[in-house]
Amino acid sequence: MSQNPLLDFTGLPRFAEIRPEHISPAIAQLLSEARHTVAQLTAHVDSPSWENFVDPLTDATERLSRAWGVVGHLNAVVNTPELRDAYNANIAPISEFWTELGQNLALLGQFKAIEASPAYAGYNAARQKIIQNDLRDFRLSGAELPEAQRQRYAAIQSRLAELSARFEQNVMDATDAFSLYLEDASELDGVPEDALALFAAAAQADEKTGYKITLQFPFYFPVMQYAHNRALRQKLYDAYVKRASEFGLPEHDNTEIIREKLQLTREEAQLLGFANYAELSLFTKMAESPAQVIAFLRDLAARAKPFAAKDRAELEAFASKELGLSDLQAWDIAYAAEKLRVARYAFSEQEVKQYFPESKVLPGLFGVVNTLYGVQVRESSAPVWHDDVRFYDILKDDQLVGSFYFDLYSREGKRPGAWMDDARGRRKKGDTMQTPVAYLTCNFTRPVGDKPALFTHDEVITLFHEFGHGLHHMLTQVDELGVSGINGVEWDAVELPSQFMENFCWEWDVLQGMTAHAETGATLPRDLFDKMLAAKNFQSGMMTVRQLEFSLFDMLLYTDFDASTGDWLALLDEVRQEVAVNFPPSYNRFPNSFSHIFAGGYAAGYYSYKWAEVLSADAYAAFEEAGGANAATGKRFWDEVLAVGGSRSALESFRAFRGRDPQIDALLRHSGMVEQAA
Ligand SMILES: [Zn+2]
Repeated sequence: MSQNPLLDFTGLPRFAEIRPEHISPAIAQLLSEARHTVAQLTAHVDSPSWENFVDPLTDATERLSRAWGVVGHLNAVVNTPELRDAYNANIAPISEFWTELGQNLALLGQFKAIEASPAYAGYNAARQKIIQNDLRDFRLSGAELPEAQRQRYAAIQSRLAELSARFEQNVMDATDAFSLYLEDASELDGVPEDALALFAAAAQADEKTGYKITLQFPFYFPVMQYAHNRALRQKLYDAYVKRASEFGLPEHDNTEIIREKLQLTREEAQLLGFANYAELSLFTKMAESPAQVIAFLRDLAARAKPFAAKDRAELEAFASKELGLSDLQAWDIAYAAEKLRVARYAFSEQEVKQYFPESKVLPGLFGVVNTLYGVQVRESSAPVWHDDVRFYDILKDDQLVGSFYFDLYSREGKRPGAWMDDARGRRKKGDTMQTPVAYLTCNFTRPVGDKPALFTHDEVITLFHEFGHGLHHMLTQVDELGVSGINGVEWDAVELPSQFMENFCWEWDVLQGMTAHAETGATLPRDLFDKMLAAKNFQSGMMTVRQLEFSLFDMLLYTDFDASTGDWLALLDEVRQEVAVNFPPSYNRFPNSFSHIFAGGYAAGYYSYKWAEVLSADAYAAFEEAGGANAATGKRFWDEVLAVGGSRSALESFRAFRGRDPQIDALLRHSGMVEQAA
């Protein structure tokens, strides 16, 4: 057994023994081994094959990825200053290694030799897909460009990374630059107690009296949603929508960053032979072309807009009659919507929460999975990083299929949110099968005293969502690491298995079976469920067109728009005229803080949210057509979607499961956007 637990790959990670001081030596050793392997494989392998080239290369990179995955995971769930320092110190060396690999022409030559070898035709679909993905990725990292262009490409890459970081930093700084102190609690009438306590604590931390309000979400949102004080809402709204624009400090202004980002991404795409950045973005995705995405968004907009207009009209009527707001403004919408929601569907999250103890919810989830796929989930044991963590095996006919860690409660030093990550992927090595292992991480409220943990309905949905990602990873039947589980799955299709699982949280039969009131033990009453169901699609038309506004703006911006001459605010206006029902004031500078597409990974990709929703709703409709959760449809979903992972395209998998192309109808129906039959 290795002294450094991060270098032990014989079984599951030895979490209890891993210390921050293990990290840098382990990563340094693995990087050096991987570089040595790459050098060997490029210099001394004359006729590369799967066995003498791909396997050893995968061995080397898998070890590095697994060790680094453990470090990244610990950094996210049991963060300490020492761990963070060790993690940060290794980010650059790791990313240098991957960049180096992507630019290695000798390595590319070996992949081409494999593709040209007689053996290639005999490879199964998974192996061929891996070779093709690798060849594609070399091309997309500029490896094949002539030297001068290759250098230009690299310069663009590093400038884009810098611009993204600055964009994000400016949004944060501009957000933090605003604060407001209020002495008088009456100015905050309507704001809930817990938010007021937060505001008061923030003022105290600044050694002031009264209340502090900032543009951070936990401050901004309760004011916009609950404060009766309209002038205050307007003041906050104005500050919020002007962040990082020409209206604030010049050093926080993102305007020129947007322009440069648009120009450079276009140049990058053209260097690689694409007409524009949207084409490059879609090259690795399920959607085929910008035109297809734009048509999809416009079609959905045309269908959703009448419902959105109805939502808007109802909100205006309610605001005028009940709230005395006859001219509904941008800063009134969240406020009026919350009042309307309560008036229509009065029930409290607190009330619902009493019915969802963890001891019922987890067996309920495992029961659904058993019904669909005939697999058993059984608690097992493994070294863990915290006492909260539990470890489970998934078995099919008593055979181990995969395993997962549940780390469900929030605590200090744990990153917020919920996510699935892979601890290791399925891979056949000689006669042995490496089974997949997943981390499933959430941030639910921990049990207090002798009471069980109680989940809100939203938390139950989150749990099902993440478990859906987990099943995609764990139920794969592909033997090659590069395309097993979620590896190699197109980015705009990755949310299909997760959003699919959410649907079961709205099935009466499923949901009722996983409830027991914390005090009385009673199951969820039907009338409460009906209220939850009615509230589910509240203003879904308005929310849909808002997402479409962002998506269409993003796609048009990265397709034909020329940033050197064009005005993107004018483009956004045109998009709004086409799809929106709410029109913000002209000083709104939403793009200046639209980090998803200017700093995150969603450039020419924001449509993915809606795209994947179409897939997941349509896949779920196959179960509805067969009468709900059932084993026959479940087996097909496993075989055609979950099992195949990235070994074939998501569209092929969808067609194999559904017998046709995806259709939008189920999404419209699930969102309540269908005309009621007369
Ligand atoms: Zn997800």
